[in-house]
Amino acid sequence: SALYRVDGWGAPYFSVNSSGDISVRPHGTDTLPHQEIDLLKVAKKAADPKHLGGLGLQMPLVVRFPDILKNRLETLQSAFDMAVRSRGYEAHYQGVYPVKCNQDRFVVEDIVKFGSPYRFGLEAGSKPELLLAMNCLSKGSADALLVCNGFKDTEYISLALIARKLLLNTVIVLEQEEELDLVIDISRKMAVRPVIGLRAKLRTKHSGHFGSTSGEKGKFGLTTTQILRVVKKLEGSGMLDCLQLLHFHIGSQIPTTELLADGVGEATQIYSELVRLGAGMKFIDIGGGLGIDYDGSKSSDSDVSVAHGIEEYASAVVQAVQFVCDRKGVKHPVICSESGRAIVSHHSIMIFEAVSASTTNVSPQLSSGGLQSLAETLNEDARADYRNLSAAAVRGEYDTCLLYSDQLKQRCVEQFNDGSLDIEQLAAVDSICDLVSKAIGVSDPVRAYHVNLSVFTSIPDFWAFGQLFPIVPIHRLDEKPTMRGILSDLTCDSDGKVDKFIGGESSLPLHDLGSNGGDGGRYYLGMFLGGAYEEALGGLHNLFGGPSVVRVLQSDSPHSFAVTRSVPGPSCADVLRAMQFEPELMFETLKHRAEESFDQEEEIEDKGLAFESLISGLAQSFHNMPYLVAPSSCC
Ligand code: PLP
Repeated sequence: SALYRVDGWGAPYFSVNSSGDISVRPHGTDTLPHQEIDLLKVAKKAADPKHLGGLGLQMPLVVRFPDILKNRLETLQSAFDMAVRSRGYEAHYQGVYPVKCNQDRFVVEDIVKFGSPYRFGLEAGSKPELLLAMNCLSKGSADALLVCNGFKDTEYISLALIARKLLLNTVIVLEQEEELDLVIDISRKMAVRPVIGLRAKLRTKHSGHFGSTSGEKGKFGLTTTQILRVVKKLEGSGMLDCLQLLHFHIGSQIPTTELLADGVGEATQIYSELVRLGAGMKFIDIGGGLGIDYDGSKSSDSDVSVAHGIEEYASAVVQAVQFVCDRKGVKHPVICSESGRAIVSHHSIMIFEAVSASTTNVSPQLSSGGLQSLAETLNEDARADYRNLSAAAVRGEYDTCLLYSDQLKQRCVEQFNDGSLDIEQLAAVDSICDLVSKAIGVSDPVRAYHVNLSVFTSIPDFWAFGQLFPIVPIHRLDEKPTMRGILSDLTCDSDGKVDKFIGGESSLPLHDLGSNGGDGGRYYLGMFLGGAYEEALGGLHNLFGGPSVVRVLQSDSPHSFAVTRSVPGPSCADVLRAMQFEPELMFETLKHRAEESFDQEEEIEDKGLAFESLISGLAQSFHNMPYLVAPSSCC
């Protein structure tokens, strides 16, 4: 487990058990040993054909653990409750979940259910997100906030006001000054008293991947001048009491609590000024930004880690708000946060399979006569490189070997391109160079493991901006990996590979595919901490659809689990439909063509059977997922 830093990024939910498999502890530190779930068993049950009692689902597979969601939410709530209690803060914490992080119906419904004892609400950033939040929250607590962020038009604002009519605790957060006129106008027409928030554009700026939303040049929010104009206009309309919430969002993965405290302090100053100007302020909404330790380093120097935990985060926020309010004599506001990443990242794991791995050529394809003629065909420079390469190899000079090997290959490609070297000779040169490199230990030991997923669909943040996620085999962890590999996906796109891993590694220690007989010849890997953002961002590149999904709860008997929901990933027909094709029609057209072609064939023995088998293969192709179903043998 040390090789993959599981104890670092995985605690308290993931560890390696005595069988060498990844073990899931759904209740975090409160998990009892008999409640641990072996992830390999979940993968096998999901993948097994139905007649073996399995679910027959195809990979990749997202495994959701609602108990982890519950634990994350309760950990966040209790961190703030503790900070409020220990500091004598005179208001409470009441979070909202930004549904953009994972809009899956069952994820949102679970969060609303788990959060209802704590008045936990939802945040929406668009009309469909607002509709789903309205639907899910109506089953939750009446005090829970429904925060409406994002660009707003007439329809969005009307919908938010309808939500207030439905007795949902809805706040329309102004992201742009122009939205105010619409809110005043529409709320009058609809005779609804709105609750208004405004998003402040803070000067505090966080650098790095996620910092572009912060600072004066950030995309969203109102400047101080705009905030003052909003206050004036609300006052003029007799609606200043409607302004009750101040929102800001510095960016995701805020690296340090110092930066966080700076931002919260600045925002609380604005909040206090709004109180002084007569607004009906009640809530300070600190946005998202609670970070995740993706690489297990617990370091604020890493782009994918943070040095602080949830408790330190909550304590820094409460302290910063309290400090400013007390100095200004302002009543403590209810603190709201919009943590998304911190709530949903851990709850789902994407499991996929390595279906084959590449090898290098190590045996020259030419006979000794061929080698002789190769030596004669090489031009003088290439022959000199060959001699120098051999001499450097005998002396064991690694760097010199690499230099002459590269030079020799390049010269031979030039000779091939001008027609003076044939393809067998070019292959032989590659093999000779590989052989020499291997003999002196400088051969590239990194293989490409072909994995049945699409990086674009399932790990879009890696492709888009290099976001790293822990990726680990979910079994054989009691066995020393003998290879190193990069992961090459099934798309025909050269960007479709994972070649950067946590800890700054450019390859991953992996096991030999040939020797995993105990697990039915399959080699399963898991991508962890990808429960936020990855599912909704992924597209249909190469028409690889989404993964299959299962929802797993621990069951009553020890170490066992129950799959409470299973959804197969989109079939080829589904993804074709998404591109406006009509699969049923396509099937009929292709079948008709097959009939015509069979009619013309005379030589086929059992025509009927051959035709049936062709048609059923065709039908199956529409029905199956676009990913490979079974691993081919390793090459
Ligand atoms: N709130 C707003 C306005 C955001 O833009 C975001 C993410 O970008 C979030 C909340 C969620 O942030 P995080 O996932 O860091 O908790």
